[in-house]
Amino acid sequence: MNLLSWTQKFGTDQDCREYLFDQRWPEGFVCPQADCGGRQYWKIQRANRTDILYECTQCHHQVSLTAGTLFHRTKVALPVWFLAIYRVAVDKGGVSAVELARELGVSYPTAWLMHHKIQRAMADRNGRYQLGGLVELDDAYFGGVSHGPGKRGRGTDQDPVVVGVSLTDHGHPQYVFLEAVESLQKEPVLEVLQRRVDLYGVWRSDGADIYAAGAQAHQADHRVTLSRDPEAPEVFHWVNTVISLAKTFIDGTYHGRGRARRQLYLEEFMYRFNRRFFGTRIADRLLAACVATVPHPYAA
Ligand SMILES: [Zn+2]
Repeated sequence: MNLLSWTQKFGTDQDCREYLFDQRWPEGFVCPQADCGGRQYWKIQRANRTDILYECTQCHHQVSLTAGTLFHRTKVALPVWFLAIYRVAVDKGGVSAVELARELGVSYPTAWLMHHKIQRAMADRNGRYQLGGLVELDDAYFGGVSHGPGKRGRGTDQDPVVVGVSLTDHGHPQYVFLEAVESLQKEPVLEVLQRRVDLYGVWRSDGADIYAAGAQAHQADHRVTLSRDPEAPEVFHWVNTVISLAKTFIDGTYHGRGRARRQLYLEEFMYRFNRRFFGTRIADRLLAACVATVPHPYAA
């Protein structure tokens, strides 16, 4: 869907509510109370509230259409939210909170919070997948002074990031993960590998202890190419490319420091990269992810 079709489809509060209703109750309203299952409801519109309550006619339980979504208790109109999601999903270079504020006509703090929540929904989705099959693994340092791609080394004071790229049988990249870690010590790296990579795959790395230990724990077939090996640039071509793209993205959109914030930008990069062949359908997927997400404490 292009931007025009999107704004036409989700142009009013009513349009957006119908979408939320269909996502929540694809077969029509069902009371969420245990032992009720009522199918009839009344709509209750409250003064000064954009949200609408649905009350079960059988047991009088009330449920908000936005409960359990990113939009719960928001003061921002739903069409504005939906447009923000489209912009964040589709813009390949990432859209900043400053740009969002200008385009949506909301304040900077509001735009920042919306962007933050959308990134959380992306992170939530990313966390549901693991890389499998042939996986290239490496690490890089992000932030601070950029040394350019290829000039990476362990032992600087920048933020270390563990990177994985799964490849097809033809050697093309499929999915990626990037995760900022406290250090490149065994414990934090193994924890990341456990979450992000499936068991029994084929791993390629430069033979660092952390990957050897991870491969053993995952019962993976570990193939080592040393960094000084003449074949290394070719073997690690894709993981190096992904690191370089992610650095460009982060440098372009985010200049602050801090591992937690940086990780959210990595999640945004990851989410978009892993869906790079979706075209504008990525916006539909992200919207669905925002509807299914659990509200973050920031939502209150
Ligand atoms: Zn009921």
